[in-house]
Amino acid sequence: MKILKGIPVSPGIVIGRVRVLDDAKGRRIPKRVIEPDQIDAEVERFETARNASIAALMEVHKTAAEEMGEETAKIFLFHIGALSDKALVGPISEMIRAEGVAAEFAVAKVFRDWTERFASRTDAAFRTKVNDLQDLADRLLNHLMGGMGQATARFTEPGIVAARDLTPSQTAGFERSKVLAMATDLGGPTSHTAIVARALGLPAVVGCRRLTFLANDGEMIIVDGDRGRIVLDPDDDTIEEYRARITQRESFTLSLRETADLPAVTADGVEIELLGNIEFPEEAEAVLEMGGVGVGLYRTEFLYLTGDHEPTEEDHYRVYKRCIDALGGRPLTIRTVDLGADKYTQQRAEFPERNPFLGLRSIRYCLQNMPMFKTQLRALLRASAHGPVKIMFPLITTLHEFRQARHLLNDAAEDLDELGIPHDRKIPVGMMVEVPSAAVMADAFAQEADFFSIGTNDLVQYTLAVDRTNEQVASLYMPTHPAVIKLIRDIARAAKRREIPVSCCGESAGEPIYAVLLLGLGLRTLSLTASGIPALKQVVRAVTIKQCEQIAKKAISLDSETEVAAYLRDQVRTLVPEAFRGYTDDR
Ligand code: PEP
Ligand code: MG
Repeated sequence: MKILKGIPVSPGIVIGRVRVLDDAKGRRIPKRVIEPDQIDAEVERFETARNASIAALMEVHKTAAEEMGEETAKIFLFHIGALSDKALVGPISEMIRAEGVAAEFAVAKVFRDWTERFASRTDAAFRTKVNDLQDLADRLLNHLMGGMGQATARFTEPGIVAARDLTPSQTAGFERSKVLAMATDLGGPTSHTAIVARALGLPAVVGCRRLTFLANDGEMIIVDGDRGRIVLDPDDDTIEEYRARITQRESFTLSLRETADLPAVTADGVEIELLGNIEFPEEAEAVLEMGGVGVGLYRTEFLYLTGDHEPTEEDHYRVYKRCIDALGGRPLTIRTVDLGADKYTQQRAEFPERNPFLGLRSIRYCLQNMPMFKTQLRALLRASAHGPVKIMFPLITTLHEFRQARHLLNDAAEDLDELGIPHDRKIPVGMMVEVPSAAVMADAFAQEADFFSIGTNDLVQYTLAVDRTNEQVASLYMPTHPAVIKLIRDIARAAKRREIPVSCCGESAGEPIYAVLLLGLGLRTLSLTASGIPALKQVVRAVTIKQCEQIAKKAISLDSETEVAAYLRDQVRTLVPEAFRGYTDDR
């Protein structure tokens, strides 16, 4: 039995068999044997990946020839030639057939053999081709592993996915009936992969470091998403202990569900608006079931992450309309696409950015891809004719960006007017406040935006200079840092002064101790994962605003993030002991 500690990012406990997924970076490709009747399909899968790689390389060659000249672009012709060369790639299909192994393993093995052969040649021309071969192997492997749906669809029974890392789109592409939980070597506390796991209700632990090195495909594993623990090959006593915990958890969750229908009103009678965060339109119903009164954040970029083509205006419109219908007149805040950073663009980019979290991300990406952005804006406006929709722009850093985005929205509205297509002419247009520049300048932004939504996931990352997806600095990712709290206080004050609504939709809004702080800082609307709403409602109903204000006042006077965290934990434990029941103490 081996116990590994990681970062708990999606609650719940699952006991099952581990399925170690291949690593797209070619670091570790376990030998996976396939069923004999799947061999033809596997060869076909390899051929599809090879053809897709050749097609992508032709595009690259074309662009490179235009930008750098034909001579420099020739290297890509060599790559295309290599992938079409029977002597080079023929052994891959032969190996799949002869040994009954997965395409990924055959690609890695055959290319490793070629690389070794080339590297050992005395002829320098051969040795310089080693990098090209590695590049080609990576390209094929990326195509083979890009869609985790394919990988998980091949599971013969539901299992627990263990992977070195997973992108949000890979996670969103899981065949849901086949995946019970997930665990990764890499990843940070608010990475979008973690957010997707929560949206899918999959218990998840990230940042387990050596998990895929230690795990043997098919062995028993326990994923404890409450405490951030992985047990490999557990003994009988441990399995028993965890089974008892699962039962205890189930009854606790059931008892919490009873609060779902009660109003979210504090003990001194102040109404708090609890909304849901969604990534997929089907989640809108779940938000209502869990006692939410609308959707405070719809992360629309997931439309791009799950489909196989760029969504059309109709694709956008259809999912927004679906949410509006499900919500039956309750509010829906739709955030325009927040692609980039850990979502979508880097996996597809021929030349990935060096620092994508500081790069062409989010609203910046939209403003540089106007036709794509306009398509979404038109669909959003059309949907607004059917229910109370608000539009929110992500990652606003400068006033200019907000104005530009709003200008494009106005253009789209005029286009619709000319065509006589109905839309809400008074649609509220707000912004995420999730970078320090916007927080510091909140007063100026509050004079232009119709509402604010504080995104603590990014605000913490950018204020503390801690990558939210990096397990190596996860202990530094502290929403309780006084600098973050002071920024939130200032954002809330600016919103109050300029009389615009302000909410929080970062993961911290769903943490009982943090929610109490946010209420104390003046927030009255919180948006969180649907499954967290009942527990938060319990907290809201147990505290008074006066208590929250006293707690916030004291918290903001403390100097360190650990003191603040300990103080908030103590206070909330005393006021709402139930908030800690059902979960273990060492969370
Ligand atoms: C945030 O940054 O807090 C937020 C809600 O947006 P996302 O997590 O999608 O970046
Ligand atoms: Mg964000």
